[in-house]
Amino acid sequence: MSVPFIDFKDQNSIIQSKVDTGFKKVFKKGDYILGQEAVEFEGAFAKYCDCAYGVGVNSGTDALYLALSALDIKPGDEVIVPAHTFIATALCVSFCEAKVVFADIEPDTYNIDQKSFEKAITKKTKAVIPVHIYGQPANMKEITAIARQHGIKIVEDAAQAHGATYQGHRAGSLGDVACFSFYPTKGLGACGDAGMIVTNDRAIYKKARMLRDYGRIGRYEHKIKGHNSRLDTLQAVILNAKLPHLNEWNNMRAKNAQYYGELLKSLQGVVAPLLKPDRTHVYQTFAVRLPAARLPARQGQAGVPHRDKVVEAMNAKGVSVLIHYPIPLHLQGAYSELGYKKGSFPVAEAVADEIMSLPMFPHMSKEQIEMVVEALKMSL
Ligand SMILES: *Cc1c(COP(=O)(O)O)cnc(C)c1O
Repeated sequence: MSVPFIDFKDQNSIIQSKVDTGFKKVFKKGDYILGQEAVEFEGAFAKYCDCAYGVGVNSGTDALYLALSALDIKPGDEVIVPAHTFIATALCVSFCEAKVVFADIEPDTYNIDQKSFEKAITKKTKAVIPVHIYGQPANMKEITAIARQHGIKIVEDAAQAHGATYQGHRAGSLGDVACFSFYPTKGLGACGDAGMIVTNDRAIYKKARMLRDYGRIGRYEHKIKGHNSRLDTLQAVILNAKLPHLNEWNNMRAKNAQYYGELLKSLQGVVAPLLKPDRTHVYQTFAVRLPAARLPARQGQAGVPHRDKVVEAMNAKGVSVLIHYPIPLHLQGAYSELGYKKGSFPVAEAVADEIMSLPMFPHMSKEQIEMVVEALKMSL
Protein backbone atom coordinates (compact mmCIF):
# COMPACT_ATOMS: atom_id res chain seq x y z
CA MET A 1 0.00 0.00 0.00
CA SER A 2 1.81 3.02 -1.24
CA VAL A 3 0.65 6.29 -2.74
CA PRO A 4 2.89 8.16 -5.20
CA PHE A 5 3.17 11.94 -4.94
CA ILE A 6 2.03 12.21 -8.54
CA ASP A 7 1.09 9.60 -11.14
CA PHE A 8 0.90 10.43 -14.86
CA LYS A 9 -0.31 6.99 -16.01
CA ASP A 10 -3.95 7.90 -16.67
CA GLN A 11 -3.19 11.29 -18.22
CA ASN A 12 -0.61 9.68 -20.50
CA SER A 13 -2.95 7.01 -21.79
CA ILE A 14 -5.62 9.64 -22.54
CA ILE A 15 -3.26 11.65 -24.78
CA GLN A 16 -1.19 8.73 -26.15
CA SER A 17 -2.70 8.48 -29.63
CA LYS A 18 -2.73 12.25 -30.22
CA VAL A 19 0.92 12.40 -29.19
CA ASP A 20 1.86 9.47 -31.47
CA THR A 21 0.25 11.15 -34.47
CA GLY A 22 1.68 14.54 -33.57
CA PHE A 23 5.23 13.24 -33.16
CA LYS A 24 5.09 11.46 -36.52
CA LYS A 25 4.00 14.70 -38.15
CA VAL A 26 6.84 16.66 -36.58
CA PHE A 27 9.44 14.01 -37.53
CA LYS A 28 8.25 14.15 -41.11
CA LYS A 29 8.16 17.93 -41.26
CA GLY A 30 11.31 18.55 -39.24
CA ASP A 31 10.08 21.84 -37.72
CA TYR A 32 11.54 20.95 -34.32
CA ILE A 33 11.78 24.43 -32.82
CA LEU A 34 8.87 26.91 -32.82
CA GLY A 35 7.18 24.75 -35.44
CA GLN A 36 3.53 24.61 -36.36
CA GLU A 37 2.36 22.82 -33.19
CA ALA A 38 4.30 25.33 -31.06
CA VAL A 39 2.67 28.30 -32.77
CA GLU A 40 -0.74 26.64 -32.39
CA PHE A 41 -0.13 26.05 -28.70
CA GLU A 42 0.93 29.67 -28.14
CA GLY A 43 -2.38 30.82 -29.59
CA ALA A 44 -4.47 28.22 -27.78
CA PHE A 45 -2.90 28.71 -24.36
CA ALA A 46 -2.96 32.53 -24.58
CA LYS A 47 -6.64 32.33 -25.47
CA TYR A 48 -7.24 29.93 -22.58
CA CYS A 49 -5.71 32.58 -20.28
CA ASP A 50 -7.94 35.37 -21.71
CA CYS A 51 -4.81 36.91 -23.28
CA ALA A 52 -4.13 38.22 -26.76
CA TYR A 53 -0.53 37.02 -26.98
CA GLY A 54 1.58 34.03 -26.00
CA VAL A 55 5.36 33.62 -26.33
CA GLY A 56 6.55 30.03 -25.97
CA VAL A 57 9.90 29.72 -24.20
CA ASN A 58 11.98 26.89 -22.83
CA SER A 59 11.06 27.08 -19.13
CA GLY A 60 9.06 28.95 -16.52
CA THR A 61 12.29 30.43 -15.22
CA ASP A 62 13.08 31.87 -18.64
CA ALA A 63 9.50 33.12 -18.99
CA LEU A 64 10.07 35.17 -15.82
CA TYR A 65 13.51 36.36 -16.89
CA LEU A 66 12.41 37.38 -20.37
CA ALA A 67 9.23 39.04 -19.06
CA LEU A 68 11.31 41.19 -16.69
CA SER A 69 13.75 41.94 -19.52
CA ALA A 70 10.84 42.93 -21.76
CA LEU A 71 9.83 45.40 -19.01
CA ASP A 72 13.40 46.72 -19.14
CA ILE A 73 14.25 45.75 -15.54
CA LYS A 74 17.94 46.62 -15.14
CA PRO A 75 20.72 47.17 -12.60
CA GLY A 76 19.64 49.66 -9.92
CA ASP A 77 15.97 48.61 -10.14
CA GLU A 78 14.17 46.77 -7.35
CA VAL A 79 11.63 44.01 -7.78
CA ILE A 80 9.43 42.74 -4.93
CA VAL A 81 9.05 38.97 -4.54
CA PRO A 82 7.31 36.91 -1.82
CA ALA A 83 9.74 35.11 0.51
CA HIS A 84 7.76 31.87 0.22
CA THR A 85 8.00 30.55 -3.34
CA PHE A 86 10.28 28.52 -5.60
CA ILE A 87 13.64 30.23 -6.00
CA ALA A 88 13.12 30.90 -9.73
CA THR A 89 10.77 33.76 -8.81
CA ALA A 90 13.74 35.60 -7.29
CA LEU A 91 16.48 34.33 -9.64
CA CYS A 92 14.89 36.02 -12.66
CA VAL A 93 15.37 39.37 -10.91
CA SER A 94 19.01 38.55 -10.23
CA PHE A 95 19.51 37.52 -13.89
CA CYS A 96 18.54 41.12 -14.78
CA GLU A 97 21.13 42.32 -12.23
CA ALA A 98 18.33 44.10 -10.37
CA LYS A 99 17.81 43.88 -6.61
CA VAL A 100 15.45 41.33 -5.10
CA VAL A 101 13.33 42.78 -2.29
CA PHE A 102 11.38 40.19 -0.34
CA ALA A 103 7.93 40.53 1.19
CA ASP A 104 6.13 38.37 3.75
CA ILE A 105 3.12 36.18 3.02
CA GLU A 106 -0.40 35.67 4.37
CA PRO A 107 -0.72 32.99 7.05
CA ASP A 108 -3.83 31.43 5.48
CA THR A 109 -3.31 31.44 1.68
CA TYR A 110 0.53 31.61 1.77
CA ASN A 111 0.36 34.26 -0.99
CA ILE A 112 2.18 37.60 -0.84
CA ASP A 113 0.88 39.89 1.92
CA GLN A 114 -0.18 43.18 0.36
CA LYS A 115 0.78 45.17 3.47
CA SER A 116 4.29 43.73 3.40
CA PHE A 117 4.46 44.43 -0.35
CA GLU A 118 3.46 48.05 0.19
CA LYS A 119 6.03 48.46 2.97
CA ALA A 120 8.80 47.16 0.71
CA ILE A 121 8.21 49.78 -2.00
CA THR A 122 10.92 52.38 -2.58
CA LYS A 123 11.57 54.91 -5.34
CA LYS A 124 13.56 52.21 -7.12
CA THR A 125 10.75 49.61 -7.18
CA LYS A 126 9.88 48.79 -10.79
CA ALA A 127 7.90 45.56 -10.51
CA VAL A 128 6.23 43.10 -8.17
CA ILE A 129 5.92 39.37 -8.83
CA PRO A 130 2.84 37.97 -7.09
CA VAL A 131 3.03 34.16 -7.13
CA HIS A 132 -0.26 32.26 -7.20
CA ILE A 133 1.20 29.81 -4.76
CA TYR A 134 0.00 26.18 -4.88
CA GLY A 135 -2.64 27.17 -7.47
CA GLN A 136 -4.70 29.90 -5.76
CA PRO A 137 -4.45 33.46 -7.14
CA ALA A 138 -3.00 36.16 -4.90
CA ASN A 139 -5.02 39.23 -3.80
CA MET A 140 -4.73 40.83 -7.23
CA LYS A 141 -7.24 43.65 -6.69
CA GLU A 142 -5.37 45.03 -3.70
CA ILE A 143 -1.95 44.39 -5.25
CA THR A 144 -3.00 46.12 -8.48
CA ALA A 145 -4.31 49.17 -6.61
CA ILE A 146 -1.02 49.56 -4.72
CA ALA A 147 1.08 48.90 -7.83
CA ARG A 148 -0.83 51.42 -9.97
CA GLN A 149 -0.51 54.07 -7.27
CA HIS A 150 3.29 53.69 -7.37
CA GLY A 151 3.75 53.05 -11.09
CA ILE A 152 4.90 49.47 -10.48
CA LYS A 153 4.49 46.74 -13.12
CA ILE A 154 2.85 43.44 -12.18
CA VAL A 155 4.43 40.21 -13.39
CA GLU A 156 2.31 37.21 -12.40
CA ASP A 157 4.21 34.07 -11.55
CA ALA A 158 1.43 31.70 -12.62
CA ALA A 159 3.73 28.66 -12.81
CA GLN A 160 1.43 26.80 -10.38
CA ALA A 161 -1.91 28.21 -11.46
CA HIS A 162 -2.87 27.06 -14.96
CA GLY A 163 -6.62 27.66 -15.20
CA ALA A 164 -7.14 29.20 -11.74
CA THR A 165 -9.49 32.18 -11.66
CA TYR A 166 -9.76 35.41 -9.70
CA GLN A 167 -13.09 37.26 -9.71
CA GLY A 168 -13.96 35.36 -12.89
CA HIS A 169 -10.70 36.13 -14.69
CA ARG A 170 -8.04 33.59 -15.50
CA ALA A 171 -4.60 33.61 -13.93
CA GLY A 172 -2.35 35.00 -16.64
CA SER A 173 -4.67 37.92 -17.40
CA LEU A 174 -4.44 39.57 -13.99
CA GLY A 175 -1.30 41.70 -14.38
CA ASP A 176 0.81 43.38 -17.07
CA VAL A 177 2.42 40.12 -18.10
CA ALA A 178 2.30 36.54 -16.77
CA CYS A 179 4.63 33.58 -16.74
CA PHE A 180 3.81 29.89 -16.89
CA SER A 181 5.93 26.78 -16.50
CA PHE A 182 5.09 23.48 -18.19
CA TYR A 183 7.60 21.52 -16.12
CA PRO A 184 6.29 17.93 -16.02
CA THR A 185 4.72 18.10 -12.54
CA LYS A 186 2.82 21.36 -13.12
CA GLY A 187 -0.95 21.35 -13.67
CA LEU A 188 -0.27 21.46 -17.40
CA GLY A 189 3.02 19.66 -17.89
CA ALA A 190 5.23 18.79 -20.86
CA CYS A 191 7.64 15.83 -20.99
CA GLY A 192 10.61 18.09 -20.39
CA ASP A 193 11.15 21.80 -19.87
CA ALA A 194 8.83 24.38 -21.41
CA GLY A 195 7.24 27.69 -20.46
CA MET A 196 5.22 30.62 -21.75
CA ILE A 197 4.80 34.36 -21.36
CA VAL A 198 1.25 35.60 -21.88
CA THR A 199 0.14 39.22 -22.06
CA ASN A 200 -2.38 41.62 -23.52
CA ASP A 201 0.32 44.24 -24.05
CA ARG A 202 1.53 44.31 -27.64
CA ALA A 203 4.83 46.05 -26.86
CA ILE A 204 5.74 43.46 -24.19
CA TYR A 205 4.76 40.69 -26.60
CA LYS A 206 6.93 42.03 -29.41
CA LYS A 207 9.96 42.48 -27.19
CA ALA A 208 9.57 39.08 -25.48
CA ARG A 209 9.37 37.42 -28.91
CA MET A 210 12.66 38.99 -29.94
CA LEU A 211 14.31 38.21 -26.61
CA ARG A 212 13.55 34.49 -26.78
CA ASP A 213 15.09 34.18 -30.23
CA TYR A 214 18.45 35.99 -30.34
CA GLY A 215 16.86 39.43 -30.62
CA ARG A 216 15.93 38.50 -34.13
CA ILE A 217 13.80 40.52 -36.54
CA GLY A 218 14.95 38.66 -39.64
CA ARG A 219 16.86 35.44 -40.20
CA TYR A 220 20.25 37.04 -39.50
CA GLU A 221 19.16 40.50 -38.48
CA HIS A 222 19.28 41.18 -34.73
CA LYS A 223 17.78 44.33 -33.25
CA ILE A 224 18.58 43.63 -29.58
CA LYS A 225 20.77 41.22 -27.63
CA GLY A 226 18.50 38.23 -27.17
CA HIS A 227 18.70 34.70 -25.84
CA ASN A 228 18.11 31.18 -27.02
CA SER A 229 14.91 30.25 -25.20
CA ARG A 230 12.37 28.73 -27.49
CA LEU A 231 9.55 26.23 -27.24
CA ASP A 232 10.23 22.82 -28.75
CA THR A 233 7.62 21.58 -31.19
CA LEU A 234 7.58 18.08 -29.65
CA GLN A 235 6.77 19.52 -26.23
CA ALA A 236 4.03 21.58 -27.84
CA VAL A 237 2.51 18.38 -29.30
CA ILE A 238 2.13 17.05 -25.76
CA LEU A 239 0.79 20.36 -24.43
CA ASN A 240 -1.73 20.67 -27.28
CA ALA A 241 -2.95 17.17 -26.50
CA LYS A 242 -3.37 17.97 -22.80
CA LEU A 243 -4.85 21.49 -22.96
CA PRO A 244 -8.40 20.40 -23.94
CA HIS A 245 -8.48 18.27 -20.77
CA LEU A 246 -7.14 20.92 -18.41
CA ASN A 247 -10.48 22.17 -17.08
CA GLU A 248 -11.68 18.64 -16.44
CA TRP A 249 -8.41 17.72 -14.73
CA ASN A 250 -8.58 20.88 -12.61
CA ASN A 251 -12.12 19.93 -11.58
CA MET A 252 -10.90 16.48 -10.60
CA ARG A 253 -8.17 18.09 -8.49
CA ALA A 254 -10.76 20.31 -6.82
CA LYS A 255 -12.93 17.26 -6.04
CA ASN A 256 -9.93 15.47 -4.55
CA ALA A 257 -9.15 18.56 -2.48
CA GLN A 258 -12.72 18.64 -1.25
CA TYR A 259 -12.56 14.99 -0.19
CA TYR A 260 -9.22 15.59 1.52
CA GLY A 261 -10.83 18.54 3.30
CA GLU A 262 -13.71 16.40 4.60
CA LEU A 263 -11.41 13.70 5.92
CA LEU A 264 -8.93 16.15 7.41
CA LYS A 265 -11.66 17.77 9.53
CA SER A 266 -11.35 14.84 11.93
CA LEU A 267 -7.61 15.41 12.46
CA GLN A 268 -6.56 17.90 15.09
CA GLY A 269 -3.58 20.08 14.33
CA VAL A 270 -3.79 19.82 10.53
CA VAL A 271 -4.80 22.95 8.61
CA ALA A 272 -6.27 22.26 5.16
CA PRO A 273 -5.88 24.86 2.37
CA LEU A 274 -8.13 27.91 2.65
CA LEU A 275 -9.99 28.88 -0.50
CA LYS A 276 -10.99 32.54 -0.74
CA PRO A 277 -14.57 33.03 -1.99
CA ASP A 278 -13.79 35.16 -5.07
CA ARG A 279 -11.34 32.75 -6.70
CA THR A 280 -10.76 29.16 -7.72
CA HIS A 281 -7.85 27.00 -6.66
CA VAL A 282 -6.32 24.43 -9.02
CA TYR A 283 -4.45 22.58 -6.24
CA GLN A 284 -1.25 22.19 -8.23
CA THR A 285 0.04 21.45 -4.72
CA PHE A 286 -2.18 20.28 -1.87
CA ALA A 287 -0.35 21.82 1.07
CA VAL A 288 -1.44 21.31 4.66
CA ARG A 289 -0.02 23.13 7.63
CA LEU A 290 0.98 21.43 10.88
CA PRO A 291 1.27 24.21 13.41
CA ALA A 292 2.94 22.58 16.36
CA ALA A 293 5.67 23.65 18.70
CA ARG A 294 9.19 22.69 17.65
CA LEU A 295 10.58 19.67 19.40
CA PRO A 296 13.01 20.82 22.08
CA ALA A 297 16.56 21.48 20.92
CA ARG A 298 18.97 18.74 21.87
CA GLN A 299 22.70 19.13 22.46
CA GLY A 300 23.10 22.36 20.61
CA GLN A 301 21.07 21.18 17.59
CA ALA A 302 18.35 23.51 16.43
CA GLY A 303 14.89 22.21 17.26
CA VAL A 304 13.40 19.95 14.62
CA PRO A 305 9.97 21.01 13.37
CA HIS A 306 7.18 18.55 14.21
CA ARG A 307 6.42 18.61 10.45
CA ASP A 308 9.79 16.99 9.63
CA LYS A 309 8.95 13.98 11.82
CA VAL A 310 5.55 13.62 10.15
CA VAL A 311 7.09 13.81 6.66
CA GLU A 312 9.61 11.14 7.60
CA ALA A 313 6.96 8.86 9.09
CA MET A 314 4.62 9.17 6.10
CA ASN A 315 7.35 8.49 3.57
CA ALA A 316 8.34 5.44 5.65
CA LYS A 317 4.74 4.21 5.29
CA GLY A 318 5.00 4.49 1.49
CA VAL A 319 2.96 7.68 1.18
CA SER A 320 5.07 10.18 -0.74
CA VAL A 321 4.97 13.64 0.72
CA LEU A 322 7.18 16.64 0.00
CA ILE A 323 7.88 20.08 1.43
CA HIS A 324 7.24 23.17 -0.68
CA TYR A 325 9.41 24.89 0.53
CA PRO A 326 11.51 24.18 3.63
CA ILE A 327 13.72 27.32 3.53
CA PRO A 328 12.27 30.77 2.83
CA LEU A 329 14.15 32.61 0.09
CA HIS A 330 15.44 35.41 2.33
CA LEU A 331 17.31 32.79 4.38
CA GLN A 332 18.80 30.93 1.40
CA GLY A 333 22.58 31.02 1.01
CA ALA A 334 22.03 32.29 -2.53
CA TYR A 335 20.56 35.51 -1.10
CA SER A 336 22.77 35.95 1.97
CA GLU A 337 24.20 39.18 0.50
CA LEU A 338 20.85 40.91 1.03
CA GLY A 339 21.36 40.81 4.80
CA TYR A 340 17.97 39.45 5.85
CA LYS A 341 17.89 37.64 9.20
CA LYS A 342 15.75 35.07 10.92
CA GLY A 343 12.78 37.12 12.04
CA SER A 344 12.71 39.34 8.92
CA PHE A 345 9.54 37.61 7.66
CA PRO A 346 7.94 35.70 10.55
CA VAL A 347 5.00 34.29 8.58
CA ALA A 348 7.13 32.91 5.74
CA GLU A 349 9.51 31.42 8.33
CA ALA A 350 6.72 29.74 10.32
CA VAL A 351 5.11 28.36 7.15
CA ALA A 352 8.44 26.95 5.95
CA ASP A 353 8.58 24.93 9.20
CA GLU A 354 4.96 23.82 9.17
CA ILE A 355 3.93 23.21 5.55
CA MET A 356 3.72 19.79 3.91
CA SER A 357 2.48 18.72 0.47
CA LEU A 358 0.26 15.63 0.21
CA PRO A 359 -0.08 13.55 -2.98
CA MET A 360 -2.32 15.25 -5.55
CA PHE A 361 -3.12 14.44 -9.17
CA PRO A 362 -6.37 14.43 -11.14
CA HIS A 363 -6.88 10.67 -11.34
CA MET A 364 -6.21 9.97 -7.68
CA SER A 365 -8.74 7.52 -6.28
CA LYS A 366 -10.83 8.01 -3.15
CA GLU A 367 -9.04 5.02 -1.65
CA GLN A 368 -5.68 6.68 -2.23
CA ILE A 369 -6.88 9.86 -0.54
CA GLU A 370 -8.17 7.80 2.40
CA MET A 371 -4.82 6.03 2.62
CA VAL A 372 -2.94 9.34 2.71
CA VAL A 373 -5.15 10.71 5.48
CA GLU A 374 -4.88 7.45 7.44
CA ALA A 375 -1.08 7.55 7.15
CA LEU A 376 -1.10 11.19 8.25
CA LYS A 377 -3.28 10.35 11.25
CA MET A 378 -0.86 7.62 12.31
CA SER A 379 2.14 9.93 11.83
CA LEU A 380 0.96 12.94 13.83
C1 LIG B 1 8.07 25.68 -11.35
C2 LIG B 1 8.12 27.10 -10.95
C3 LIG B 1 8.95 28.03 -11.60
C4 LIG B 1 10.00 27.65 -12.59
O1 LIG B 1 9.55 26.97 -13.71
P1 LIG B 1 10.57 26.02 -14.53
O2 LIG B 1 9.78 25.66 -15.73
O3 LIG B 1 10.88 24.87 -13.65
O4 LIG B 1 11.76 26.83 -14.86
C5 LIG B 1 8.86 29.36 -11.22
N1 LIG B 1 8.03 29.76 -10.25
C6 LIG B 1 7.24 28.90 -9.58
C7 LIG B 1 6.33 29.42 -8.52
C8 LIG B 1 7.27 27.54 -9.89
O5 LIG B 1 6.49 26.69 -9.22
